[in-house]
Order: sequence, then structure tokens, then C-alpha cells
Amino acid sequence: MTRFDYCEPTTLDEAVALLDAGGGRAVVLAGGTDLLVQIRERVRRPAQVVNIKKILGLDTFEFDAAEGLTIGALATTRALETSDTVRRHYAGLHAAVVHFASIQVRHRATVVGNVCRASPSADTLPPLVADAATVRILGPDGARTVAVEEFCTGPGRTVLRDGELVTHLHVPAPAPRTGKVYLKHGRRVEMELATVGVAVSLTLDAAGALADARIALAAVAPTPLRARSAEAALREAVGARGGRLGAAALDAAAEAAMAESRPIADVRASADYRREMVGVLVRRALERAAQLAEEPTP
Ligand SMILES: Cc1cc2nc3c(=O)[nH]c(=O)nc-3n(C[C@H](O)[C@H](O)[C@H](O)COP(=O)(O)OP(=O)(O)OC[C@H]3O[C@@H](n4cnc5c(N)ncnc54)[C@H](O)[C@@H]3O)c2cc1C
Repeated sequence: MTRFDYCEPTTLDEAVALLDAGGGRAVVLAGGTDLLVQIRERVRRPAQVVNIKKILGLDTFEFDAAEGLTIGALATTRALETSDTVRRHYAGLHAAVVHFASIQVRHRATVVGNVCRASPSADTLPPLVADAATVRILGPDGARTVAVEEFCTGPGRTVLRDGELVTHLHVPAPAPRTGKVYLKHGRRVEMELATVGVAVSLTLDAAGALADARIALAAVAPTPLRARSAEAALREAVGARGGRLGAAALDAAAEAAMAESRPIADVRASADYRREMVGVLVRRALERAAQLAEEPTP
């Protein structure tokens, strides 16, 4: 294992000062389920590891019916998995943390760490993009907020600058009659990265017509992908039918999502298979989200 300096700041300001002093060679340690593997495999060689676990108040998440969900930098995937609030109001995000690694990993892995790792197949990113979540960043120049959709710039790369860390995520409160879905497709259910992931957040108006839909894809581009062409195709097809979803609208969205995905071939699947699965899963996720939107919140 590469040698590195190790520190445990107890405040956010101290953490930022340490990261800033480290220039690009200081890294944040949260659950360590990605970082320690990368250091051990010499994929990353930090000069300094800044463990943020001693900073109080980061391990919580809070829900307010008007404001939405705030997820602290140390809130674990297991904590969200076992939350009734997350299950009821953020079903896509909840599905992502249920079908995630193993229970041992979920007890350590943080949601923010999953976001900051910026893997194209990260499970929490598609539902967070579909839910219009934002990332709160703190650095030497103060705080700033970035949409999750714009946070990842490439595999393992983010908009974070030297000296910056993420303090929390914010997910807006869901509008009434909203259905949220995340479908993870892989060879196994547990201990498997997504071959393709699709998240949908879909809102109906009081008359049952489509009011809004956001679609996000995992593992079919260098970053999680907001499927804007699919959203536009859905709106157009639904508009022609007085706002009602139907087979033609689902097909139009699925086709557009397949066309805008940019999958690669790797050990998990060929590019063609991934593209086909985007079509299948987008159709299925939209259908399921529309059903959920029509049901009263449990
Ligand atoms: C066996 C195994 C199975 C896995 N299965 C899955 C899976 O099914 N789905 C999936 O998506 N992932 C999976 N992972 C990956 C991993 O568990 C997740 O990405 C995890 O959520 C990372 O969180 P962490 O707290 O462990 O982050 P860490 O490893 O501590 O950090 C990850 C990265 O984010 C940075 N970072 C962390 N917190 C912050 C912050 N607050 N501000 C700025 N940068 C920060 C770190 O510097 C590092 O670069 C798996 C990993 C293992 C080992």
C-alpha cells in the first residue's frame, strides 16, 4: 500500500484547510469502500487522506414535506435503505440503496461517497438526477451548489476543485402524484454493478395527464446521463394524445433513449445489448412510475 499522511479533522473548516494545503494530492475518506480499494490497488496514490468521520452532524439525513430531503456527507446507504421516509417519498433512490453491494458494504458506504466516486454505473446517481437533486460543496472560496446532473464530468471525475468537499445532497420534495422508479439490470441482484440502470421520476396532474417526467441512465455513457431526448419524445407523443401515456409514447421515449445512450462493450455486456436494455428498461420504468403516480402515497 502506498504511504500517505492521515488526519482526522473535527470541523468542516479544518477539513477544507487540510484539503487546500494538500493541493490535488489530498483526498477525502468517508466510508472508504472505494477509496481504500483504489489505494490498495495503486489506482490512486494520495499524499494525504483526510478522514471526515470525526466531523459531527454529517451522518444524518432529514426530510421536510415542503423542503425535501437533505443527506449529510456521512449518511450511509444502509441508513437510507432502512428509512420509511425514503422508501415512501423517494422510491427510486430507495431501490438504488437496497440493490447495492452487500449489507456489510452498505453499513459503511455513504451516498455522498457514491456520488463523488463518479462511476458511470453508480447506483444512486440516476435516481438523484431524475429527482433533480443538488450537491452542496464547501471549499476555500466558500460554498456553492451544483446540480447532480452536472456534477460528474467523466469516469471518476467531478467538478470538485482542489480543497473542496461535499457537505450534503439536497433532493427536492416530490410533487403530489409523482411515481419514482430505479431499475438496475445486472447478471445478479446482489454484489453486482449495474450493466444498465434506468431511473424515472414522473408526475401526473389532477386529471391524470402527464405533467413532468425526468429520465436518467446509468452505465451507458462516461457519466450518468439525463435522457433529455427521451423526455422530449415522451412529451411530444403524449401531447398528441391529450396528455395521456400510451404504448406509442412509451415506444417513442424508449427509442429516443436508445439513440442518445453511448454504451461501451466490456466484461459485463456488449454495447448493442446495453442499448437494447435501455429501451426495455425505459419503457418498463415509465409504465411503473405512471402506475405509482396514480396510487396514493402509502
Ligand atoms: C464489494 C463492493 C461492492 C460494491 N457494490 C456497489 C454497488 O452495487 N453499487 C454502487 O453504486 N457501488 C458499489 N460499490 C462502490 C462503493 O461502495 C460506493 O461507491 C460507495 O457508496 C462509496 O462511498 P464511501 O463512503 O465508501 O466512499 P469513499 O470510498 O470514502 O470515497 C469514494 C470517493 O469519493 C470521495 N469522497 C467521499 N466523500 C466525499 C465528500 N464528502 N466530499 C468529496 N469527496 C468525497 C473520496 O475521496 C473518494 O474519491 C461497491 C464497492 C465494493 C467494495
